[in-house]
Amino acid sequence: MTQDHSTSAKVTPHRVILLGSTGSIGTNVLQCIEHLRDDHGITMEVVGLAAGSRAAELSQQARAFNVNTIALGSTDNRIDLDIPQTTTAFVGIDAAHQLIDTVAQPGDLVIAAMVGSAGLPAVIAAIDRKCDIALANKETLVAAGAIVMPAARHANITLLPIDSEHSAIFQCLLAGRCIDEVRRLVITASGGPFRTWPAQRVRSATVAEALNHPTWNMGPKITIDSASLMNKALEIIEAHWLFDMPADKIDVIVHPQSIVHSFVEFVDGSVMAQMGPPDMRGPIQYALTYPHRLKGCSQTLNWGQLSELNFEQLDHDRFPAVQLALECIKAGGTSGTIFNAANETAVAAFLDEQIRFGRITELVEATLDSIAPTPVQSLPDIMAADETAREFVTHQISRQQSSAATSAVTS
Ligand code: NAD
Ligand code: MG
Repeated sequence: MTQDHSTSAKVTPHRVILLGSTGSIGTNVLQCIEHLRDDHGITMEVVGLAAGSRAAELSQQARAFNVNTIALGSTDNRIDLDIPQTTTAFVGIDAAHQLIDTVAQPGDLVIAAMVGSAGLPAVIAAIDRKCDIALANKETLVAAGAIVMPAARHANITLLPIDSEHSAIFQCLLAGRCIDEVRRLVITASGGPFRTWPAQRVRSATVAEALNHPTWNMGPKITIDSASLMNKALEIIEAHWLFDMPADKIDVIVHPQSIVHSFVEFVDGSVMAQMGPPDMRGPIQYALTYPHRLKGCSQTLNWGQLSELNFEQLDHDRFPAVQLALECIKAGGTSGTIFNAANETAVAAFLDEQIRFGRITELVEATLDSIAPTPVQSLPDIMAADETAREFVTHQISRQQSSAATSAVTS
């Protein structure tokens, strides 16, 4: 067996650009980079950082990792930037894209850890510059897999999944390689905080209840997506694009312990699963050191304490999101874009306490029923569908609010 120290010597020390550096994934990426440097002597040079609004934290990260070029999405928070004069800071809606245009070089590793489809133009720009991509930001593929995947193939870059289920499938496929040897992919789902709740209670769950995930500690948007099972729905579409799998070869199974991160069933009946603790630093480090493995910074599984691994069928009546995603794959065109944009808008409204929890899935379904998908040729096709879906959901929410206000006045 290869010793740890000789494996360290084989790992490529990438130049890294981290998009979404202040988030849950972003901060875990920086921890992994520190761990590789301190415990394995592998120095990944961080050449760019991008964040949405936490300017002070972004500045502190730039100082700690000696980063000379940063991007901040929100102009309102510019005042909190605290960086040396020699540091270049792009600010505004196109900041991450400008960061890529300025610093990205062929062979750099761009880690897409922003939340939502806002990161899409920067990821496409990075692919066009022949950067490898480590992708946590599933919305990029859900909204625009039809242009991201051909661009990645054309640029001949490596696209490494960070999402734990997709990292698991990616690792299982290394043994099977040929995609027609695969019978189906089985994506595991924790089931979220409402796994055992009756439908009526799920519909009126509060923001605090939905943010209380049983196994994973994540940013607010993905935590709400996990509660509605929209996260699994997005992951099905993500898997469809990443592994070129049709909808009828992708399945979901509920696994409350979040230890088995996904399965691949092969045509000969053999099944491979990838397991590990529910800690994103596992798949993140694997993306950083791929194709090698080094001792990580998360706990290893304690088999003595692990008494059972359970698997249950998903209740599609209580959680219809997964079925909607499978239909989106079959419908093609901009349906993934519409699905994603409707969900992002509805989740933001739920977090803002404008709508109840059950409305999220209802609004996504209503949007898919009302807006017909169109073919995707280029980014503007995606942007137009995204905007139309967001407007539709916003209009539905304000209509509902004004009718609620009217009935309050008349009653
Ligand atoms: P988060 O909310 O904790 O962090 C999001 C990051 O994106 C923050 O740094 C924020 O500042 C940044 N951001 C938002 N808008 C931006 C903009 N316009 N420009 C630049 N930066 C911007 O979210 P998270 O939990 O870290 O999730 C990030 C992505 O990774 C999501 O797509 C999520 O689905 C995916 N993911 C997360 C986990 C997890 O465990 N957290 C697991 C798998 C996949
Ligand atoms: Mg996941």
